[in-house]
Amino acid sequence: MDLGIKGRVALVAASSQGIGLATAEAFAAEGCRVAMCARNDRTLQAAAEKIRRQHSAEVYAEAFDVTDPAAVSRFVAAVASKFGSVDICVTNAGGPPAKGFLTALLEDWKKAIDANFLSSVYFAHEVIPHMQRKKWGRIITITSITTKQPVTDLVLSNAVRAAVVGLVKSLANEFGKDGILVNNVGPGFTATDRLKELAKARAATTGKSEQEFLDAWAADAPVKRLGDPREVAETIVWLASERASYVTGQTVLVDGGMYKGL
Ligand code: NAD
Repeated sequence: MDLGIKGRVALVAASSQGIGLATAEAFAAEGCRVAMCARNDRTLQAAAEKIRRQHSAEVYAEAFDVTDPAAVSRFVAAVASKFGSVDICVTNAGGPPAKGFLTALLEDWKKAIDANFLSSVYFAHEVIPHMQRKKWGRIITITSITTKQPVTDLVLSNAVRAAVVGLVKSLANEFGKDGILVNNVGPGFTATDRLKELAKARAATTGKSEQEFLDAWAADAPVKRLGDPREVAETIVWLASERASYVTGQTVLVDGGMYKGL
């Protein structure tokens, strides 16, 4: 299937590892020009160089924190100046810590709102004018299965990510007339460093091993395994493609069927 996005400019936030990195790689494999960011410059530049070599892709990478609106603004301007525009924007950031409600501090809530909600606002605000000029654009937020089904001890994610869904639906309604499609992708349990951190946090408070948690999460999905970051990435690339041209305002779970609702 020709996805029709060869030559498009795809910005992927928080992309030095995990799902973000797999997404940047998947866009490069489709012939997109790719812009990447993360906080650690060394890790980020190594990831960018690997993608350049493997896919002969044009890659622009800059280290900054996505919770800094001025840095997001400068980055989007730099990408547009280097590549001519920003056609596809995937918002992403590290997930909030695993905590129950009474152990979550006010500071944790503020950090979660900054990283997991406001960073999407910052990117959307900067990229939409570029997309309006071209009458074509795709914004895809990476959130979590928690947007459909709360996960135990992830109260920060359960609550804050719901706001992203409201944002996605609002942007889809407001900018569909400009050819801009906005969707949300919710990963289920996916084999990345983030998942290892969650397993470690659970193990520390229960006496069970990290592996027991990883096995239990795999068993909870009808497909009986954890997800691979590439599987989330390929769904994102499809949503960004010409083949998903009548899909907007949706949340698509990539969770091996773990969501229990209809
Ligand atoms: P990860 O921890 O493996 O990777 C996170 C990436 O974000 C890294 O590149 C890191 O450098 C970057 N990053 C983190 N905070 C940043 C910031 N403030 N500014 C710039 N870059 C930043 O995580 P992952 O597993 O790839 O998850 C990606 C997102 O998907 C997270 O929000 C996570 O909570 C969510 N998610 C993951 C899973 C899973 O099972 N892995 C499940 C549901 C949701």
